[in-house]
Parts: sequence; C-alpha cells; structure tokens
Amino acid sequence: MRTKIVAGNWKMNKNLEETEALLSELSAKLPDTDAEVIVAPTFVNLVAAQRSLQGSVIQVAAQNMHFAENGAYTGEISADMLLHIDVDTVILGHSERRSHFGETDELLAKKVKAALEKDMTVIFCFGEELEERKSETHFSVVESQLKNALFDLDAQAWKNIVLAYEPVWAIGTGETASPEQAQEMHAFIRKTIAGAYNDSVADEVSILYGGSVKPANASDIFSKPDVDGGLIGGASLKSTDFVDIIKAI
Ligand code: PEP
Repeated sequence: MRTKIVAGNWKMNKNLEETEALLSELSAKLPDTDAEVIVAPTFVNLVAAQRSLQGSVIQVAAQNMHFAENGAYTGEISADMLLHIDVDTVILGHSERRSHFGETDELLAKKVKAALEKDMTVIFCFGEELEERKSETHFSVVESQLKNALFDLDAQAWKNIVLAYEPVWAIGTGETASPEQAQEMHAFIRKTIAGAYNDSVADEVSILYGGSVKPANASDIFSKPDVDGGLIGGASLKSTDFVDIIKAI
C-alpha cells in the first residue's frame, strides 16, 4: 500500500516564535491518522522545529538543498548539514525555485542524486505552466520534467522518492485543478513511470497533488485513486486549516 502524505511547505514564512507557536498548535490538534504528516519550515528554524516536535509523529523537511558535499557555495545548505540535525527529507524542484532561482531539470537531477546518495527522502515537485496547459502540452511537459530529472535513477532509488504534481497555475492562486484533472495527470504520471521502469515502481510511489488545496476541496481531491496526499502551501500556515486537510485524508 502506498504511503499517504500531507506535507506543509511554509516557504519564507514564520519567524522562530511563530514557528514554535504553529507547531505547538498543530501538535495539540493533530488527529489520529495513518498518513505521514510533514512540515517544511525555513532553514533557520529547522533545529527549533525538530526540538518542538520531539516525540511527535510530525516530521520535518527542508525546502531545498545544494548538490555539493560542502565548499564555496555561499548561502547554500548541504545534505550532511540537514542530516546532522536529523532532517532527512527535502523538497526539491518547487516551481518557485525553478522560476525565481533558475533551477533546471539538469540541476535538479544533481540535487536529487546527491540527496539519494545520502539516503534522504526527496519530495520532487514538477508541473506545467498555464500556457502549457492551454496549449495542451501539459502531458509532454510533465513527462520531460520527470525524464530529465529522475529517469536516470535506478529502480531501487525510487523507494526514497515522493512525487508532488503541482500545476504552476494552481500554486498560490486560489485556482485548483479539478479532482478529475488531478486524477488524469496522476494516472498519466504513474503510467509514464511504469513505462520507464515497471509496474511495481509505479504502484509504490506516492504522488501528492499541490496547488491551492484547502479544507473545502481536500476531500474531493484526495478521494481520487492516484492521489496519495497533498503538498500544501498557504493552508499549511494556519493550524486549523492544515489539521482539516489532514482529517480529509
Ligand atoms: C506550494 O507552494 O507547494 C503550494 C501548493 O502552494 P499553495 O497551496 O498555496 O497553492
């Protein structure tokens, strides 16, 4: 059975005090769930988040990392630095990293490889822009994002990969893919992976949907057979909303 996951990407939000307050609210309200619950605060608050969550089932992830082991990369963070503070999950390829910081599939392939070499779990984000959906190239765009960044990995490596399909036009816009659009794309992604690898790799990988998931639409999206959870931006910043989304799974 695939793992269900609800992950909150806090982006560049919440200072130290706010991080601790949100985590304590979340811990107090967290419902019983079989799903994995993950939060990704900003780098400077990862240590505090780990401390606040000691003994909790809520896991902490980083929002990014560099591919190099260490060295002259001002402003960057390595896999070893994350592992040293017990953070073994990292979000890579978020559309904001791609659009604001020029991250390409080729760069992401290096980051994914570096994280997997350290046995980290990667939440790999990808998805088409609005123009690509309008011109009906969204399937080929998604296929090439996967192929360029991930398909050089061997089948074994996929046990540490979680996919997050995030149509760029739905991120932070209030616009959501319909449950049917999400299902259609997730089924396509699974079929593409089965073609590149085999059915068992495709069946076992968790594919999250991301893009304006809210308490009001979460159940419908999560009810689709190929949607294994969500990567949540805005709604993960309010404990009540995030908890309601967790309940929806
Ligand atoms: C995201 O940034 O990954 C995201 C899905 O954001 P939002 O939920 O705010 O659209």
